[in-house]
Amino acid sequence: MNAKILVIEDEPTIANVIRRGLSREGYNVLVAIDGETGLTKAFAEFPDLIILDVMLPGIDGLEVCQQIRTAKLQVPILMLTAKDAIPDRVAGLEVGADDYLVKPFAFEELLARVRALLRRRAPLEIEGPFKFADLSLNPSTRMAERNGRWIELTAKEYELLELFMRHPNQVLTRDQIYERIWGYDFGGESNIIEVYIRYLRTKLEAEGEERLLHTTRGVGYVLRE
Ligand code: CA
Repeated sequence: MNAKILVIEDEPTIANVIRRGLSREGYNVLVAIDGETGLTKAFAEFPDLIILDVMLPGIDGLEVCQQIRTAKLQVPILMLTAKDAIPDRVAGLEVGADDYLVKPFAFEELLARVRALLRRRAPLEIEGPFKFADLSLNPSTRMAERNGRWIELTAKEYELLELFMRHPNQVLTRDQIYERIWGYDFGGESNIIEVYIRYLRTKLEAEGEERLLHTTRGVGYVLRE
């Protein structure tokens, strides 16, 4: 059974990034663009998780959260707050949100929170480790292993490698990688993917092992043997 996630967010760009990303991960995603519709869907659809923006037209996110809690709906709530709006985060947790994420965020960060909240709800669904060829990647230790050799990864290296392990033999375009790892708001240097791919190759091939991360010229990268 795929978890059902309700996204209550009035900004179409952000709502779309979340919807597309989570759908691709296999979740069943519903979107509401204001607080009132969000509440209606929360009570009618019984989502497994709610992603709730604080700043909404009409009833705001705090009010939505409060009404859900007052009605004793036990669904985990992940609040999206504006950058630096610390009072919002505190208020969100006070009205019963389980976690919050500050905008702008990278999609992978959102995904990590979503998984954590769903896991807390269903402790038996523990994921991983991911395996491909002689490489394995352990989500709980966030380390890779190859030929019995443990490989430490930085946070970004781990996220990037996990993305490839989730989509083996599939060419990931540079845009897809940017969007998933660095976020839709990414506007920085254009060679950051190349830099991280190089870091990963150096670590994964430290003992002269076969290359697994291949360049598809003009398109992106693929994990294959
Ligand atoms: Ca908003």
